[in-house]
Amino acid sequence: MSKAKGISGNKSFFFAVRTARCPRCREGAMFQHPFHRFLKFSTMYKNCPVCNLRYEVEPGFFIGSMYISYAMNIAILFSSSFLIYHIFNDPEIWVYLCIIPPVILILLPFMFRYSRVLYIYWFGGITYENTGNGHVENNINHS
Ligand SMILES: [Zn+2]
Repeated sequence: MSKAKGISGNKSFFFAVRTARCPRCREGAMFQHPFHRFLKFSTMYKNCPVCNLRYEVEPGFFIGSMYISYAMNIAILFSSSFLIYHIFNDPEIWVYLCIIPPVILILLPFMFRYSRVLYIYWFGGITYENTGNGHVENNINHS
């Protein structure tokens, strides 16, 4: 197993979410490339490289992650508007329009990933199975 596909040691929930790990074994990576690779940030593994869990638990499962992505966009919109308002002392509308869209574009890979990660953790119905050595005995797929 390569270092990029799996981790050992820390298997806490927050570490697994932050590093986009499989919700069942918390070892296998969900995405094939780091999110700073702007053209390939969205490429996911179909199955967990460690426990073989199928990430798309049902057809179109990740469409629901758009709601989380939408909420993240709104949060960024409001927080950056708040910052711009106070830093530039209530500027004209074009200042907001020149700053906020690039900020959202730059954060797009981050939001894409974490909306999917949070969605599969919250709504995937997958429970963590700690086997100690990273191998989950039950290799049933959701297909
Ligand atoms: Zn896994």
